[in-house]
Amino acid sequence: MFKSIRWKITGLFVILVVITEIILSACILIGTVNYFHKDFKETISEVFNTDTKNELYEAAKTVAAPQEYVDVNNNVIIDTSSQETFEKIKYIMDYNISGLAISKSRFYAILDGKSGNVVYSSNNIESVEKTAVVNKALEGEETIKASISSRVMDYAIPLKSNDNIKYIVYVNDNEQTQNDFVYSMLLIMLYIIVASAIVSALIGNILSKSITTPIQSLTVNAKKLADGDMSALSPAESDDEIGNLTNSLLYLANAKRETTEAIQNEKTKVETILQNMNDGILAFDMKGKLIHVNPEAKRLLKREYLDDIDFDRFFKEINANISLGDLVYMKPDVSIEREIKLDDQYLHLSFANSMTNNKVSGVIVLIHDITKQEKLEHSRRDFVANVSHELRTPLTTIKSYSETLSLPNISREQQVRFANVIVSEADRMANIISDLLTLSELDENQAYIKPSENIDIRKMLENLVDRMSLQAKKKEQTLTYTSITDVPIIKGDYGCLERVFVNIISNALKYTPNGGTIEVFSSRVYSDITVKIKDTGIGIPADKLPHIFDRFYRVDKARNRDTGGTGLGLAIAKQSLESSFNGGIKITSEYNKGTEVTITIPVK
Ligand code: ADP
Repeated sequence: MFKSIRWKITGLFVILVVITEIILSACILIGTVNYFHKDFKETISEVFNTDTKNELYEAAKTVAAPQEYVDVNNNVIIDTSSQETFEKIKYIMDYNISGLAISKSRFYAILDGKSGNVVYSSNNIESVEKTAVVNKALEGEETIKASISSRVMDYAIPLKSNDNIKYIVYVNDNEQTQNDFVYSMLLIMLYIIVASAIVSALIGNILSKSITTPIQSLTVNAKKLADGDMSALSPAESDDEIGNLTNSLLYLANAKRETTEAIQNEKTKVETILQNMNDGILAFDMKGKLIHVNPEAKRLLKREYLDDIDFDRFFKEINANISLGDLVYMKPDVSIEREIKLDDQYLHLSFANSMTNNKVSGVIVLIHDITKQEKLEHSRRDFVANVSHELRTPLTTIKSYSETLSLPNISREQQVRFANVIVSEADRMANIISDLLTLSELDENQAYIKPSENIDIRKMLENLVDRMSLQAKKKEQTLTYTSITDVPIIKGDYGCLERVFVNIISNALKYTPNGGTIEVFSSRVYSDITVKIKDTGIGIPADKLPHIFDRFYRVDKARNRDTGGTGLGLAIAKQSLESSFNGGIKITSEYNKGTEVTITIPVK
């Protein structure tokens, strides 16, 4: 309860009031006691003025000294039978008694000047205490004492005759009246203090409430403000402390909102970039714990859940051969590169330190998919090897036949045969080079810049089948063409499309044994022109089909070379259809049963 400012202020207010009242009361009480002491001194000096004192001194000279004797019980008895002894002194004192304000707490006594025993007292007491004042008087000194430190107020004046102290006039006030007065005042003050404590608690409470209520509502609204509710506070109109605090809070909230928005925007930007990056990103802290991963990284690393990976363990698992320790001591602008193979994928990993306030705070790993480049590089190497191999074989043949030709004793018949082999191998080399040039042209997309002609596919196929039926006849094959539906005239490179059909039909003729059938169909299906070339040939084994369009690929290398094939026909057909006609080619085949090639060309 006392943690709240409201109760603290109330408590403080009550304490202040009570302390003030206690101090005031103490001052009043001390003043009162002082007044009583001062009054006693004034009363004494008024009563015992010079005249009274002289009268008392004179009286003392004439009166007899008190007669004292000790009785059988050893008690000191003062003989006061002779009134002469102190009557004059008593007479003077009685004359002044009203001035002394004798009461139940104040009395006067006449004491024996030697022993201090009571000779007479106004309240009939038999003895008085030997106070310091009485003792001083017994030594012959007039003394008065009235102070806070003493319990009683008293005054004593010795009355001498020939240096003998005959009597002592002693006035004593046991402060009973003063104490009664002080006690009743104390009681009143206590009541006042209790009453004022209650009143001040009420006032303090009301006062503190007037201060804390706006603070409380400000606190509630500040919390709402912190939660983003900008309407929770409106600018204060008052210019007091609460008004200033309200305006400062508003200023702070606005500044915070702007900063948060700016940070949020930046964060969104960075996150959008990371989410849509073509590269994978992994971020680790210095303990090797993953703190960020983007979807591409998960895709490349083939892991749906990467969140609990540990740097060292993970990169050991994927054979990246790197640990966090290798990176910590690396210079800030340097990175470590690694290449790994994950299943059929090649990945390039780049490791760099992330810095915060010039200190290494973690590691960033950039993952780049280099499968395409790697495969390209492989096929480039294979291609060079294939080209060299394909050209070297006929060249070796030409060289050996030429050498044989130059030998003596070669018959005319042999010369002709050898020359024919040389020509055929040279043709073969020329074919390969011509196919390679065609492919290179297609690779560079030069077909597009060739003039576009009208192509009537039906006519083209009729002519081709007509031309090639001679070749078919040699192997007693049946080559037919059927136009299933009309096909529209298309625009494009005539020679290029003709070469595609020649390649496919001549393959069908080549790889179909004697007596087989080769059928060519053309039709329009939806917005595509479809040409099918079906043969009853040797077919292609299912496991070889995926490679059939690779450059220099032959199903049976030895046999196919005899047929004069270069292994580039299908590659050229595919490339031509795709780059010049936006079309496609598909081969289905059953080994030893036959092959069906489907060509589709979209109608623009
Ligand atoms: P090639 O010049 O050797 O014929 P292609 O690229 O035209 O080269 O064909 C690649 C390989 O595909 C051929 O070597 C052959 O083994 C196979 N092939 C192509 N067409 C057929 C077919 N109709 N029947 C059987 N095998 C075929």
